[in-house]
Amino acid sequence: MTAIAREDGSIATLSAAALQTCIAGGFKILKDVPHHTYSWVRVTWVSADCPIDTCIDVTREICVALWSSANPAIGFVDIEDVGSFKKLCSECSKEAREQHTVGRQRMWDKLPVYFGWSSWNDVLK
Ligand SMILES: [Zn+2]
Repeated sequence: MTAIAREDGSIATLSAAALQTCIAGGFKILKDVPHHTYSWVRVTWVSADCPIDTCIDVTREICVALWSSANPAIGFVDIEDVGSFKKLCSECSKEAREQHTVGRQRMWDKLPVYFGWSSWNDVLK
């Protein structure tokens, strides 16, 4: 994890400071997933246009699947594969997908900040 062999036989390594930045950034990302990517997941969430009353139970199942998972990468899997997502009605799944996409975009926009840069412009300088 700390060293990679290059094609020329030399070894590339990360400094201790770079490793600390990566680890700290990873924790910040995991902490933010519920606030951005899955901000729509609440035990009482359903779309305002939901025509059926079973979606609230499905949302509860999705909450349990997300927050009880032993997989630290659960926040990054395709939303269709999380819990009982496919049981949501078309209105709820459409709105959930839209909010999910907005949350993922917010995390992408914030990605440099997790690792100590101020913005993507700062990274690309
Ligand atoms: Zn619904």
